Amino acid sequence: LITIGGAAGFIGAQLPLLIQGVGGLERVQDLLAKPDAAPDPERPESIGGLVHSLQFDEVSFSYDGSSPVLDKVSMTIDCPRRVMVVGPSGSGKSTILRLIENQFSPGSGHVRFNGVDLRLLGEEQVRSLISLVPQDTMLFQTSVRENIRMGKRDASNAEVEAAARAADIHAIIMAMPDGYDTNVGEAGNKLSGGQRQRIAIARALLHDPQIMLLDEATSALDSASRVAVEATLRKVTAGRTVVAVTHDLTQCEHADLVYVVKAGRMVESGTHKMLLAADGVYADLWQRSVIAAADGTLPRDQLLDR
Ligand code: ADP
Ligand code: MG
Repeated sequence: LITIGGAAGFIGAQLPLLIQGVGGLERVQDLLAKPDAAPDPERPESIGGLVHSLQFDEVSFSYDGSSPVLDKVSMTIDCPRRVMVVGPSGSGKSTILRLIENQFSPGSGHVRFNGVDLRLLGEEQVRSLISLVPQDTMLFQTSVRENIRMGKRDASNAEVEAAARAADIHAIIMAMPDGYDTNVGEAGNKLSGGQRQRIAIARALLHDPQIMLLDEATSALDSASRVAVEATLRKVTAGRTVVAVTHDLTQCEHADLVYVVKAGRMVESGTHKMLLAADGVYADLWQRSVIAAADGTLPRDQLLDR
């Protein structure tokens, strides 16, 4: 939700509109709440430009203070890298991304950029470094331009258009009745799922983030638009650090590093090849999802949940 987090003031002002626009008060409240992140430091430390490492150091976390969601999760990512996080539903993958974007702070342990605890960096700096593309993108009943601008409130029209071009949606927008001024409709219902995800990508790119977090960013799309949006994502993430949660293990074949989470624990990590050779949890998931999907026995994205 970080792409929207930056627009908190905007969201507050537009609340009545949003409630019609996004189809649910619950999600709006989710957005407005800044639940458990540590308060902003008075004098934030600077990571000094480039992020060269992203580290989880024995991070444990619970939403309610009693049931553990992450249990001493550790990972070390040298940047830039393409990293996948896989594992069954409910294992804590999205939570890991929320901790990276500082939406929540660990109950114990540390999330560090360049060795500095995220809590010391301040919200603004973290927001400038990271963008998240979620599975379901929230669009607001306003123009395409304003929907993209939510990634960075002070972005100029030229910046918005450059981001839209990079997200391969500029031509589509130009073909709309009012171009960038076209209203996207209630919750974006005048756009296709693929177009909505491209708006989310454009939004995410406005900050030119060093780190992009993808949370099942294409899994709600039909297979044709999934392939097309994935191609755009590969293009726009080149040279950046990507931490992508996916159900589609075939995406792991080209990742630098794969982390496997199960019930809140980091159970394995390595390259796709190393993990297949290790014949553990990942190899089992691969066997059940990719091989069985190839057999046509079950749709790939349902298998990991079994
Ligand atoms: P995944 O992305 O791997 O499916 P999540 O990180 O979304 O898993 O969830 C991990 C666990 O935390 C699940 O048991 C889920 O029900 C719980 N959980 C997720 N989000 C919240 C929340 N906002 N409040 C309370 N519990 C949550
Ligand atoms: Mg998730």
